[in-house]
Amino acid sequence: MPVPGNLIGKLNLKMPMEIKAENKSGNMRRVGFLILAGLVFAAVAWFWFKGQTVPIQKRTRFLMDTVCTIYIPGPKTVLPVIDKALDRAEEIDKKFNCLNPDSPIYAFNHNNKPIRDPEIVEVAQKALAVARQSDGALDITVYPLVRLWGFFGKQGPRLPSEREIKECLKHVGYKYVAVQNGEVRKLRPDIQIDLGAVAKGYAVDEAAKILKQAKIRSALVDFGGDIYAIGEIRNRPWTVGIRNPRGEGEVGGFEISDLSTATSGDYERFFEKDGVRYHHILDPKTGYPSRGLISATVISADATLADAWSTATFVLGKEKSLALAEKTEGLQGVVLITPDGKISSSSQLARNFEKNSKGK
Ligand code: AMP
Ligand code: MG
Repeated sequence: MPVPGNLIGKLNLKMPMEIKAENKSGNMRRVGFLILAGLVFAAVAWFWFKGQTVPIQKRTRFLMDTVCTIYIPGPKTVLPVIDKALDRAEEIDKKFNCLNPDSPIYAFNHNNKPIRDPEIVEVAQKALAVARQSDGALDITVYPLVRLWGFFGKQGPRLPSEREIKECLKHVGYKYVAVQNGEVRKLRPDIQIDLGAVAKGYAVDEAAKILKQAKIRSALVDFGGDIYAIGEIRNRPWTVGIRNPRGEGEVGGFEISDLSTATSGDYERFFEKDGVRYHHILDPKTGYPSRGLISATVISADATLADAWSTATFVLGKEKSLALAEKTEGLQGVVLITPDGKISSSSQLARNFEKNSKGK
């Protein structure tokens, strides 16, 4: 997951200019003194503001199975705004959780009830568009497979048999779900959906919306690696680091401002059996965890799309994802890590990533 890197930013201080009073007449001298005093005051005030270490306010909650934090540089008076944004994320967590019997998604999966909730319809529509663009690498109908592998629920994950996986694959296919007349409908009764690959991104979008409505001009929303950066931090874009998928720290980072980023990685939820790692991002074509990448980071103006594309590019692998990043609206850049540890980035992000990853 991306980790917020240089939260402190870099200060860019200039020396105060030298001020000379040249006029010798009394009045002019007084005016000159006032101007001089004004300028000195302005210079001091400027320095005071620039030199101030503005405190960063933050609040954290555990939602959507992950740690959700919002950072805002400023005084403590911003904390109620953070709470409001986190309340909204909590609401989304409940609504989009397919294990929650009160969720419209639960009623859709278990009672074939079409989904009318406008925000679930909107998110499903975005996910289905990415499903089409990625040729089904992102597929919201993977729910039976996710359950079979046990990445949800209390029983814990396990390695299913080939026969079980083959049987399950018969009930997977995003083409059997459609948004028609403002409703998410099943085109086959056995289909079940899971919006887990996109809901976190949607929660980030909604939290950022609340902060912007409250006129917050600088903030970082980080929900378990799904990030939206509002504005800048001390006159610099926010720097976001990409977590090392096989060790401590980060492999590098990049700068973003008024943009979103999301990472999908094979280290987030996994188990090992006979020395093989089995993780939670499944290739809907094979029914097994996808193997081409160990980390996929994307940037997008829209956090819901960033979340959708991080999962899709993870499944698509290096070549296809790099090619898509050059021509797909809503996918503004990728940084991919293959199992041998090699890092590749799309042309839009390459310089930004290199510049901010020196010495890593
Ligand atoms: P993310 O961490 O955003 O990549 O989302 C992973 C989650 O999405 C998993 O925990 C599953 O619930 C679900 N999922 C796994 N594989 C896929 C897939 N290929 N398409 C859509 N959702 C998936
Ligand atoms: Mg995702």
